[in-house]
Amino acid sequence: MSTPIFIKSAAAPKDFPADDGREVAFVGRSNSGKSTALNLLAGVRKLARVSKTPGRTQLVNFFGVGAERRLVDLPGYGFARVSRDTQEDWRELIEAYLTTRRSLVGLIVTLDIRRGVTELDDTLLRWLEPMGLHVGLLLTKADKLSHGASIAREREIASTVAHDVKLTRFSALNRTGVDVARGWIDDWMQRDATSAAEDESSGSVSRK
Ligand code: GDP
Repeated sequence: MSTPIFIKSAAAPKDFPADDGREVAFVGRSNSGKSTALNLLAGVRKLARVSKTPGRTQLVNFFGVGAERRLVDLPGYGFARVSRDTQEDWRELIEAYLTTRRSLVGLIVTLDIRRGVTELDDTLLRWLEPMGLHVGLLLTKADKLSHGASIAREREIASTVAHDVKLTRFSALNRTGVDVARGWIDDWMQRDATSAAEDESSGSVSRK
């Protein structure tokens, strides 16, 4: 992945950049460590703003990482202290992005390992299932648990999600899972038309 360059922020689908090439998007509950993970995986300190006021980001941010390759920062969901209307606007924006974006090949979902899959995360994951996207879960803040407890949590969470969803323990503090997650993203970004066609002929859903 080359060094990311900010392309634009979009408040509505009409502002999204041209839908060519490949994109990997980051999504997660507010305060789940999404911005921290995006910054670390992209190798840039302040790419996505790490907010002390969770839920502030209401824009879809696009970063270029090479020719027709982009990382996308989606608004965090489930922030309790914003109105229902605002939450609904965010949901609509995220849904509009996920359902219309042809260049979207994979999603990184951040989950605080201590909270696991919350109801909102579960709704998102179930809704994504038929879409044929690659999905990778980052079980963030793994450093907050002992090694043994974090492995037990990972197993527990793995048993509740669809079998083709990838997951890894992740910590921005000690870099657990960074190489694994970068590997997923590189793989999803690099797959060419031939491998997509092979996937389709082997019965997998499209876009993989
Ligand atoms: P976002 O709202 O999902 O983008 O979450 P942030 O990236 O802003 O992180 C929320 C809070 O969790 C911040 O105070 C971060 O410093 C902290 N945080 C994020 N990742 C980690 C991690 O791996 N370990 C620890 N201990 N704290 C983390």
